[in-house]
Amino acid sequence: MDTHLTTSPDEAAQYVREGRLAAFPTETVYGLGADAFQPSAVQSIFTAKGRPADNPLIVHLFARSQLRQVAAAVPPVAETLLNRFAPGPLTLILPRAEAVPGIVTAGLGTVGVRFPVHDCARAFLRACDTPVAAPSANRSGRPSPTHWTAVQEDLGGRIACILKGGRTEAGVESTVLDCTASPPTVLRPGAVSVEQLRAAVGAVDVADASETDAARSPGTKHRHYAPAASVRLVQSPAAAEPGSDAAYIGLEAPARPEAFRRCRVADDVEAYARDLFHFFRACDRADCSFIYAQVVAGEGLGRALNDRLQRAAAR
Ligand code: AMP
Ligand code: MG
Repeated sequence: MDTHLTTSPDEAAQYVREGRLAAFPTETVYGLGADAFQPSAVQSIFTAKGRPADNPLIVHLFARSQLRQVAAAVPPVAETLLNRFAPGPLTLILPRAEAVPGIVTAGLGTVGVRFPVHDCARAFLRACDTPVAAPSANRSGRPSPTHWTAVQEDLGGRIACILKGGRTEAGVESTVLDCTASPPTVLRPGAVSVEQLRAAVGAVDVADASETDAARSPGTKHRHYAPAASVRLVQSPAAAEPGSDAAYIGLEAPARPEAFRRCRVADDVEAYARDLFHFFRACDRADCSFIYAQVVAGEGLGRALNDRLQRAAAR
């Protein structure tokens, strides 16, 4: 299959309306979109990505009026969160409307919804004029794509279209919050921090990676975000072993940055998160065998960053 590259949201949306797949930029990472109400199109997302069928997809919307097409109810806490964080990088888990095909939600009684804030994503979703089911636009298990060239690397020839935008801004995915639980529970830490959620609605739980919680958010049990190189977590750069096949990324500089094949020292946690997946892919292209990654303080965006680092390091 030829993968059509375009900068036109309308052109990309045309593919989705025809039941085909289009990758598109958002403020978090690139998504791989299909019309949520065409089950065969949604099925092809799983095929293109090699995604396990038990991992549900997030439904992307551009207008609040679309909510009732996919959600059976919107609890008051979700209303408050939508008023505060939508559009933006927050995914809410809500009771699912009957009409949503089971393949979108992996058979769960709930549906994940999100309103991207990225201009190009919004223009695309508006032109699609239907709820768009979209996971990250990478082969399953690989680092999420933060540039259209990364989408092409993973899915070129396997999907109909890539809507080209620039680098994505957040670099980590949306926060997934279960609003059917009381108190609402973070199933995946992400670009909106737990602290921000608590400031908006009070009590918010954070699911741990135990068996029970994995069952609630099937996606989190799979290995994720991993480059081909093996990722080793370090508390400080002194623990990273330099070498011609080694790379380092962190907030603190190693003593001899030039002793690594690739070295990236980020100014702050935001820059670290934005660069992480991009760096992983650059290290793979440079044939690095090891990537040393410094863990950060687990507050704010640091919680999501550490989560991605741990999953990338899990073998
Ligand atoms: P991604 O594949 O990067 O788009 O990730 C989507 C994430 O949202 C995965 O961790 C899914 O498990 C999670 N998710 C989507 N829909 C639901 C749902 N209905 N219930 C729980 N988690 C969900
Ligand atoms: Mg993903």
